[in-house]
Amino acid sequence: MIDLVTLGESMALFTARRTGLLRHARDFGLGVGGAESNLAIGVSRMGRRAAWFGRVGADEFGELLRSTLAGEGVDVRGMIVDPEAPTGLMVKSRRTAELVDVRYYRSGSAGSRLRPGDLDLPTLRSARVLHVTGITLAISASAAETVRAAVAEARAAGVTVSLDVNYRRALWSPAEASAALRDVVASTDVLFATEAEGGLLAEGDDPVRLAKSLSALGPRHVLVKRGALGAVELSDGVLRHAEPYRVTELDPVGAGDAFAAAWLAETMEEADPERRLATACAAGAFAVTSEGDWESLPRRHDLSLLSPSDAVSR
Ligand code: ATP
Repeated sequence: MIDLVTLGESMALFTARRTGLLRHARDFGLGVGGAESNLAIGVSRMGRRAAWFGRVGADEFGELLRSTLAGEGVDVRGMIVDPEAPTGLMVKSRRTAELVDVRYYRSGSAGSRLRPGDLDLPTLRSARVLHVTGITLAISASAAETVRAAVAEARAAGVTVSLDVNYRRALWSPAEASAALRDVVASTDVLFATEAEGGLLAEGDDPVRLAKSLSALGPRHVLVKRGALGAVELSDGVLRHAEPYRVTELDPVGAGDAFAAAWLAETMEEADPERRLATACAAGAFAVTSEGDWESLPRRHDLSLLSPSDAVSR
């Protein structure tokens, strides 16, 4: 039985080991990147069954994605190997200690050729949650169509729909994003957005007002992520503020996926809402304390290492 299905683009991720200009990097680590596949790994590490659907090339990188995700316990039976397109690539480096630079090489990639016929409908219909992101809505027309088809199937089958806005400036303009996302938000039960992302969809000059106006668009649960400032949740009309965990940030990438994965896993565990939000904040904080995207996603026992002193207050 699969708890959560997600779909999208996963890529081979090269990470420069040395800080400085990318062209001077000589040594790279190799792993996997992609918001949805990271979310699937995060959910699996938190103890729930996750499946990832997507396309990869018939190449070594496609094999890397399959073996990494499967090794993390993610169900990859819905992964399609496309013989006509390569697996996309991501390259991450640090220009300075503070400045992380991520480049994507996805033009014509297998991942961007995702189409509605790729969906494993029986698995999707029997899951508890479908999670999608704005990235897959933006990468190509057929991928966007696949997201919309999956959301429609999930709604019809009573599967909870979760959306992480995950706005990427390089992929689309704010106006394009706002139009495409609004459509999906209307069919969404759980919405994750940073303050800036929320501003693409609704008005609100502080996180509470923003959460309220996002909630008016339809989602039952709205999570406004605030980085080192914590998060605000508006669920079933109840507002909760989570104080951030105090940690030393080494690499901000991956916090949003860790937060969403933990929040969704806690929902599937039927944890009480205060605990659910505190766990999500702890997961986001944990993710920034180590280098890497999927590598830094926490397992449940990692979270007990963080100080529990920061309580959630209503
Ligand atoms: P990403 O960088 O992965 O795209 P994001 O922008 O989607 O992340 P953030 O708001 O940066 O999301 O992080 C998600 C959550 O993780 C925050 O709401 C917060 O609870 C926690 N978090 C992130 N950064 C920190 C930090 N420096 N200190 C403590 N908690 C953090």
